[in-house]
Amino acid sequence: MQLLKLKPVLYSCPDFGAFVDEFKVTDRDLILSNDYIMAPQLEKTLCEATVINLEDFGSGEPSDVMINALLEHVSTYDYDRLIAIGGGSVLDIAKIVAVAGQETDVNKLYDQPLVKHHQLIAVPATCGTGSEVTNIAVVNRTVLGTKQGLVGEALYPDAAVIVPSFLETLPYEVFATSSIDALIHAIESYLSPKATPFTQTFSVDAMSAILNAYLLVREDHEAYKQLGQVLLQASTSAGIAFGNAGCGLIHAMSYAFGGKYHVPHGESNYQFLMKVLHFYRLKQPEAFQEFSDMLGEMLNALDPLATLEDLLNEILPYKPMRSYGAIASDPATFAKSTVAHQQRLLANAFFKVDEQEIRELYESCL
Ligand SMILES: [Zn+2]
Repeated sequence: MQLLKLKPVLYSCPDFGAFVDEFKVTDRDLILSNDYIMAPQLEKTLCEATVINLEDFGSGEPSDVMINALLEHVSTYDYDRLIAIGGGSVLDIAKIVAVAGQETDVNKLYDQPLVKHHQLIAVPATCGTGSEVTNIAVVNRTVLGTKQGLVGEALYPDAAVIVPSFLETLPYEVFATSSIDALIHAIESYLSPKATPFTQTFSVDAMSAILNAYLLVREDHEAYKQLGQVLLQASTSAGIAFGNAGCGLIHAMSYAFGGKYHVPHGESNYQFLMKVLHFYRLKQPEAFQEFSDMLGEMLNALDPLATLEDLLNEILPYKPMRSYGAIASDPATFAKSTVAHQQRLLANAFFKVDEQEIRELYESCL
């Protein structure tokens, strides 16, 4: 049994200037990022690399249409290393660019062995994705009508770099949704049948750090800006945990809903977090007890699920699926799509769930 795999080398640099120095960034490097992230950095730091901004190719989470436009553009550049600085979308797309070569249709990459063409340095600028340490990139495949992960050894970044100063300029909303995503990575990987003592160590570290941060942020909404090292370390730890043990039912359910209503990934997962945990507790109370006790200790709570729900509501108020436009026929359609397209994730659910149970869970979130 494999216990833990970690491919990228982990680094930490206090700010962007220190990163440019440590990695000797030159004009042979290509940076993929967003203008709102890079513009303030480039004012302070001399950096010779060419910068490509993702928003020039479309908005929202990565779709095959947006990625194909970017692949077409990037194929005209001559460069050595690819540096991704941003949230999950930027990091996931950079992984695809690093293996695309001359291919300009991401959908074709799902049917062929992946080979890396450029070294990839991943710098998360939000505290959620964990993508900097995993071998998966998630794409909204408009050809299938759902989000689906592209997975392969070649998708691992070569280096993952924590730069805490990026959190100082992160908008509150992005902090909230991305850190909830990281918390869900930690929870789902902890409960996965593939979890090992090593992956659970990373899950527990991440859960505890994020919940402690939430207790501080609940008192002062600006507090996260000074918690960059802690929060980025937590989201990377959660990434190591789910990169090995996998994410489960919450992520599986999130894709059909998030894909249809263009809900950002972390916010879309948040839809299903509490309902799924209550469902686990109801169906397998004995097996769930150990996790529940641990959560109770972290939150100093007698009813950990209720306390967690209250705390999360203070960080990010919960809105039901209907408020995003969901309709009565969605639960049945989403359940069918989840079973058809998300078997990779459903295999990591706490226990095996069927289409009827998934439909009822969607209905409870409507
Ligand atoms: Zn996620």
